[in-house]
Amino acid sequence: MRWQLLGDPKILLKRTAVKQLYTYGQYLKNKFHTKVSKLPLGLSGFTCPNIDGTVAKGGCTFCLNDSFSPNLAKNADKTFLNLESKSNPILDKQLRELEMQILTTRKMMREEWKSKKFLVYFQAFTNTYAPFETIKALYDSALTYDDVIGLSIGTRSDSVTDEVLDYLVELSQEKEIWIEYGIQSIYDETLDRINRGHDALNVEKAIKKAKEKGLSVCGHLIFGLPGEDQEMMLNSAKAAYEWGIDSVKYHPLYVVKHTLLANEYMMGGFEPISKEDYIDTLVKAIALKPDHISIQRVTAGIDDDTLLAPAWCGLPKNKMLQYINSALIREGLIY
Ligand code: SF4
Repeated sequence: MRWQLLGDPKILLKRTAVKQLYTYGQYLKNKFHTKVSKLPLGLSGFTCPNIDGTVAKGGCTFCLNDSFSPNLAKNADKTFLNLESKSNPILDKQLRELEMQILTTRKMMREEWKSKKFLVYFQAFTNTYAPFETIKALYDSALTYDDVIGLSIGTRSDSVTDEVLDYLVELSQEKEIWIEYGIQSIYDETLDRINRGHDALNVEKAIKKAKEKGLSVCGHLIFGLPGEDQEMMLNSAKAAYEWGIDSVKYHPLYVVKHTLLANEYMMGGFEPISKEDYIDTLVKAIALKPDHISIQRVTAGIDDDTLLAPAWCGLPKNKMLQYINSALIREGLIY
């Protein structure tokens, strides 16, 4: 517990006793004693089994794949990898992209954020969905930089081979290694409705397996999925905590133009969660969370004209954090 002056002075000019929530930034600072930033990558050649037809076509209904990363390189030659790829004709290109993105983003983070160390985040698409030799070459290359302390690998629970998992375990003996799984919901009817392409049991097993092998796991949750009420959203959060995640990202579901969800929304088949309901659910989910699970994200949005709805997901990040902190403060918490 500590005393702190909170939020926008115009709104929150009061001193109150609040408990600082355990953030991922604090976790990294405690461990590495300096400012560590996650450095996102988006490389050519990666796709997703839910997009390329292996599991399904079209992807999750909310997914506009280009929107995952501003760094996402355009894959002009349309070479996409998968677990069965026998060779990788674009590996050199991927390695060049990786180097360019690390150097460019690291420079910005050093200058603007005063970051000293970096955790390279393989973010866009499914970053274990490629031949092992490719994955190993890319992970190894990212770890050659002196100030890169480790990796965080964003992926799907149905796309991690034992070979890759074991390699991550091997790397974790020397480096900070995380695996990030999209959980989204524990309700199979919801996962079906968003065309997720796997069920909740698949994620549960993947998380438990990674934990048994000693890896650190971040779970992603989405609040406001079609057909879900608050009780369902909180049940998903509780289950994720119980499965053993070490860190969590909370997101609202928002509708991006040119997605399957946009069609559903335009036809009146989907109503986005309101800002008030999202924040209420978020605060309750955080209150249920064991203290040792760090928080990496409390909201998400998009600040360009690809956002269709809800409009509040286009608010500036600082503004949303003020709203969220106002609600958290009433519970004696702050993010
Ligand atoms: S798993 Fe991720 S990349 Fe694949 S379709 Fe869903 S949101 Fe898109």
